[in-house]
Amino acid sequence: MSGAFQLTGKRALVTGANTGIGQAIALGLAEAGAHVVAAGRRSCDETVAQIEAAGGSGTALLLDLSDPAAGAARLGEAGHLDILVNNAGIIRRAESQDYTETDWDDVMDVNLKAVFLMCQAFGKAAIARGTGGRIVNIASLLSFQGGIRVPAYTASKHGVAGLTKLLANEWSAHDINVNAVAPGYIATNNTAALRDDPERAAEILGRIPAGRWGDPADIAGAVAFLCMPASNYVTGAVLNVDGGWLAR
Ligand code: NAP
Repeated sequence: MSGAFQLTGKRALVTGANTGIGQAIALGLAEAGAHVVAAGRRSCDETVAQIEAAGGSGTALLLDLSDPAAGAARLGEAGHLDILVNNAGIIRRAESQDYTETDWDDVMDVNLKAVFLMCQAFGKAAIARGTGGRIVNIASLLSFQGGIRVPAYTASKHGVAGLTKLLANEWSAHDINVNAVAPGYIATNNTAALRDDPERAAEILGRIPAGRWGDPADIAGAVAFLCMPASNYVTGAVLNVDGGWLAR
């Protein structure tokens, strides 16, 4: 085995790892052999317990990104990192004519500003060490499409796609690959309101070629691949994992 599909010896930090997609990513990276720092604004002890129960290695870190600069300033507490997965994100729904400045700022802070500042903190350390690294940002179908009633979310996720490409351009020379994964409709807290609305839920399901909502574990494989030596030549990509939604 060349190790091209393994993460043994690597250390990864995943934000928003207490639940949903972030938790699944943390489990996936640990299964591939990485030590995972599961970071969340709430305890990630349960995620670490699941990692350890599966034979992996993990630690938990309390990290609130609602103040992006304060959160990113604490990245060093995780120790040496080879991999950063910016997964934490929030969504606030309202018609654009009624959308509040507070909702706009809160969403942009967690979904975009924190992503940039976390990348910056990770990149600075990796460049100084000269060891390279991998960043995977969690984008969205709304990195490509407009959506409805989520103006800040759509703007933030378009921003994540653009930022991912810019950082890939700047940091390839430092052996830091920067990619994004754009999940389709995945059954998590983020989409609970959509699934609770029978009309929207039916509309959405009817358009997914795979014929089902995604599971958080569906995202973990793509993220793990983008952290492995097997994807050395992939950078600046936004990989859709959407059951075929965007192909329709
Ligand atoms: P989720 O279950 O709501 O998870 C979001 C995670 O982000 C949670 O761990 C949440 O913590 C954390 N978070 C929120 N605000 C934070 C803050 N201020 N500081 C630190 N962590 C914070 O939803 P999810 O679907 O797994 O979302 C994960 C990512 O996937 C997000 O970036 C989301 O935009 C993206 N995404 C999801 C879908 C989907 O269909 N589900 C589709 C496209 C993209 P709490 O548990 O404390 O709230």
